[in-house]
Amino acid sequence: MGSQARCLEIFFFPFVGGGHLIPMIDLARLFSTHGVKSTIITFPNDVAVFQKSINRDQQSGLDIDLFILRVPADDDAGLSKIDMSAPPVTDTSALQEPLKQLLKDRRPDCLVTDPFHRWVADATDEVEVPRIIFNGNCCFADCCGDSVERHSPHTKVDSDSEPFILPGLPDRIELTRSQLPLGLFRMGNEYSGKNKMVITEHNSFGRVVNSFYELEPAYVDHCRNVIGKKVWLVGPVSLCNKNLEDKAERGQKASIDQQNCLNWLACKNPRSVLYVSFGSLARLSSTQLREIASGLENSGHPFIWVVGKTLDNDNFVDFDGFEERMMENKKGLIIKGWAPQLLILEHEAIGGFMTHCGWNSTLEGVCAGVPMITWPLSAEQFSNEKLVTDVLKIGIKVGSEEWASWQAERKVVVGREKVEAAVARLMSGGEEVVEMRRRVKELAELGRRAVEEGGSSFDDVNLLIEELKCLRPTVGEVAESVAAQ
Ligand code: UDP
Repeated sequence: MGSQARCLEIFFFPFVGGGHLIPMIDLARLFSTHGVKSTIITFPNDVAVFQKSINRDQQSGLDIDLFILRVPADDDAGLSKIDMSAPPVTDTSALQEPLKQLLKDRRPDCLVTDPFHRWVADATDEVEVPRIIFNGNCCFADCCGDSVERHSPHTKVDSDSEPFILPGLPDRIELTRSQLPLGLFRMGNEYSGKNKMVITEHNSFGRVVNSFYELEPAYVDHCRNVIGKKVWLVGPVSLCNKNLEDKAERGQKASIDQQNCLNWLACKNPRSVLYVSFGSLARLSSTQLREIASGLENSGHPFIWVVGKTLDNDNFVDFDGFEERMMENKKGLIIKGWAPQLLILEHEAIGGFMTHCGWNSTLEGVCAGVPMITWPLSAEQFSNEKLVTDVLKIGIKVGSEEWASWQAERKVVVGREKVEAAVARLMSGGEEVVEMRRRVKELAELGRRAVEEGGSSFDDVNLLIEELKCLRPTVGEVAESVAAQ
């Protein structure tokens, strides 16, 4: 990196929940390894989550820092108390004035922001700081959303369960109306997505994407050439977590001692354990959890299951001695709360990942070279499922058909037979799974190379840095503006 790049300062403004906050922190850390001065704008409650990683980065000589954005007590509206499980609807507009002031005072070269701060364009436009969007999705999901928006194929079928093809995409991708986000598409012909989030992106300088070109080349090209978006693919960002502590402490303090977890895995055969997790937000009903428990037990394959809060009881309640049985016969490890996901996924004992297809988890599964059982629930997860199963062919579907918001009760429960069948199919390692494993290992290797010097993501980061440098005012323009004041 030249000295010019080292002077470039980028502010990173993550949203509050896990799937949004975690990759943005990685992104800031990644940019600092390219010589950028990275400043993460954060909330008081979030700091503890990643302070140690940032300290380690600083000690290793990286130019990275945190800025805690404080809200006047009167405007707080609960913001100082929000944590990792804060939902996407959380209103953060009380931060608008403090952010604007910060941008005025420090004049960074750019603000990378999560569009869930729906008001952020007003702040950046007023102070004329370029805005780059990071919404955490892959290009494939964006292409699916764009196809639905442009062509409204969902309005041309007779029922919510009848499949329709997404027109104009590089592959034949089918979805049903029941798999589309409710508020955006299912209400009728009108696409109601022209909201503040969309506007925030439309007038921005572009978007950084946590993905890599080789994973979804046709969809990156489609985003750039057909939709006309300016995108830089800079991932997989999770690969910036190189040491044990970074991996073990990523996101939250784990609810299990990392050594206990690794010891448990060490007793298992290579590729024999299924890792089951539904991300940082999703809440399932007790009925659904019971079906998962039975399906896992009946499959006979060892598993680690991360059980978050339930819809009804808040905490996981043991079913008929399930947990005790699993502990006794060492078949299953149940983690209630937060798991050190990166550490688990990369362990050689892990042979499959049952995932809700949140984009971070999906990409982390790819990086670990692990085939998946897909169980999408909400957000753009049904699109991600299609990428995994139909395009990349590195996973199988459990048979989840119904989109619902993260905390809504689902009409349909996925039964224990479906769970057992999917686990048996993926973990017993037939020919199709051998082929999936080969493909996903190849992608993992491509992902690893993408972020190394000379790799596609490495180059895209540098390209963005150069473009941002070109946006800077010239010495003459600065002198003029000083004279005008
Ligand atoms: N995660 C974790 N431990 C957990 C649950 C989640 O480390 O017990 C991390 C996971 O590695 C991923 C993020 O939290 O980076 C979840 O993001 P994703 O996009 O997969 O799903 P979301 O939580 O947004 O639904």
